[in-house]
Amino acid sequence: SRGFYIGRFQPYHNGHHSVLERIARSVDEIVIGVGSAQLSHTLDNPFTAGERVLMLTRSLTDLDCPFYVIPIEDIQRNALWVAHVRSMTPPFETVYSSNPLVMQLFAEAGMAVQSPDMYERLTHSGTAIRRRMLDGEPWEHLVPPAVVEVIREIRGVERLQRIARSD
Ligand code: ATP
Ligand code: MG
Repeated sequence: SRGFYIGRFQPYHNGHHSVLERIARSVDEIVIGVGSAQLSHTLDNPFTAGERVLMLTRSLTDLDCPFYVIPIEDIQRNALWVAHVRSMTPPFETVYSSNPLVMQLFAEAGMAVQSPDMYERLTHSGTAIRRRMLDGEPWEHLVPPAVVEVIREIRGVERLQRIARSD
C-alpha cells in the first residue's frame, strides 16, 4: 500500500522525520507532498520547493521504504484541493496528517486518514525553528544533519534575517 504525508517543511525537522520513520513501517511506499510549493523568500515560507525537496531527499537516504517527494502548489479552493493533490501524486490509500483541514478534506473524499502522534511539538515546529534562526539561537539540534547542511549551503539563515529587516 501507499501512504501520503504532506507538509510545508519550512524547514523539514525532527518532528516530521520521526513521523515519516513511523509511517515507513506500515506502508510499502510513501508519497510526500511539499505544500505551498509556490512560496519562498517570506518569513513564514523562506525556502523554495526545490530546497525543501533537497532537505527531504537527503534526510531520508537511509529510510527503509521507497518514497516520492512531490511539490504541490496551493489552490485557493479547498473543495477542489484533494482532486488537485491526487492529480499530482502516485495513487495512495492512506493519508497521515494531524492538520485538521487536511484531515477533513480527505475524510470527506472518502479516504482513510490517520493522525500520527506528535513528537515534542513545542520545540519541534517550523515556526519555533524559524524564530530561533531569526534570533540567532541554536536550531541545528531540531533538524536532521542533512537539513543543517542544505541550509548552510543556501545561506538560509542569512536569507531569513535579511527578509526580516525593514527597508
Ligand atoms: P509551521 O510552524 O511552519 O506550520 P510545522 O512544524 O507545523 O511548521 P508543517 O510543515 O506545517 O510543519 O506540518 C506538516 C505536518 O507535520 C503537519 O501535519 C503537522 O501536524 C506535522 N508536524 C509538525 N510538527 C510535528 C511534530 N513535532 N511531530 C509530529 N508531527 C508534526
Ligand atoms: Mg504547521
